[in-house]
Amino acid sequence: MTQDLTTRLIHHPYRPPEGFEAPQMAVHKASTVMFPSVASVRNRDWRHKTGYTYGLHGTPTTFVLEERIAELEGGTHVTLVPSGLAAIAAVDLALLKPGDEVLLPDNVYGPSRELARHELATFGITHRHYDPMDAAGLAAMLTDKTKLVWLEAPGSVTMEFPDLRGLAAACRARGVISALDNTWGAGIAFRAFDLGIDIVMQALTKFPSGGGDVLMGSVCTRDEELGHRIKLGHMRLGYGIGGNDAELLLRSLPSIALRYEASDRAGRELAAWLGTRPEVSRVLHPAFESCPGHVHWKATCTAAAGLFSVMIDPRYTSAQVDAFVDALKLFRIGYSWAGPVSLAVPYDLAGMRGTSPYPGTLVRFSMGLEAVADLKADIVQAMDRALR
Ligand SMILES: *Cc1c(COP(=O)(O)O)cnc(C)c1O
Repeated sequence: MTQDLTTRLIHHPYRPPEGFEAPQMAVHKASTVMFPSVASVRNRDWRHKTGYTYGLHGTPTTFVLEERIAELEGGTHVTLVPSGLAAIAAVDLALLKPGDEVLLPDNVYGPSRELARHELATFGITHRHYDPMDAAGLAAMLTDKTKLVWLEAPGSVTMEFPDLRGLAAACRARGVISALDNTWGAGIAFRAFDLGIDIVMQALTKFPSGGGDVLMGSVCTRDEELGHRIKLGHMRLGYGIGGNDAELLLRSLPSIALRYEASDRAGRELAAWLGTRPEVSRVLHPAFESCPGHVHWKATCTAAAGLFSVMIDPRYTSAQVDAFVDALKLFRIGYSWAGPVSLAVPYDLAGMRGTSPYPGTLVRFSMGLEAVADLKADIVQAMDRALR
């Protein structure tokens, strides 16, 4: 019996073109993955990626992206999730249970702290903050309840670079899992697993995407058992990523090292120049001696992201600093850095951390891909207008 056209359009035989190799692979999308037989459903093995079972658990496109992120981080087991924050949540939810404690650096990425204060607290998981610049202090805080310690390098906004090796060693000595937010390092500035860290997450939203358009996160480990715990949690939570987003990441990854290097060069040039300006009282860039933890950056890293902060001298009010940022034309106001557009955001440190370590108002700059001379001219015209 001849099948209906609609049926034939759905069931037409299709094979990827033989002998066709191209730099980019096809984008595969699926909710349903069709099994050849009932026996193959019964014998399915999602854990070792020997086959495909369901769209949420991976497609040829996302498996390739997982392999490339493993390559980038120097790990073996990767889980992809819909944002960087979802990657933080995936680690917390997979590894913590009621009665457990998680420790966060006191300069942690803000939304990670909010997750601990709200959802984790509701589940009976407690958290405390530690000083990331004091590895011995962290060691002294670990108890039998402590199951996970988050690390971040450098710290959000204030940019202190911690002794990651020392912090990871303190965790290891007590059998506590360490997890690093490696969004700044991006797998380029240093090899996180070589420092003794157990889990490395990254907001792929930032450098790996590089476009300011895609949201995605990854969780990577070298430990098979940890990798499976995270995959199981991920499977139960139902975090999926879109095939087209995976395609954009696969398109961007080959240029990540070049973009990181350009961002680094521009960031150091601009930060050094800002340090000579009378309106700026301090430069907080890990590659500069004026930044706390510079010695750790030097011992750990071969590069730095073009993301740094400066303190605007306290003789200017925070309203004047706001007016300065508003007067910038090329630097736009926004959070998600490592795209093509340079960004500037003022922060009120006293409001964020209780007390501010420095006088004045902080402005965080992130480098896009514009010419540095144009960015300097933009800052000069905005300072001339607002900081007089
Ligand atoms: C942006 C960012 C995240 C979160 O990534 P999203 O994809 O925006 O959720 C986490 N950590 C750091 C350090 C970041 O900069």
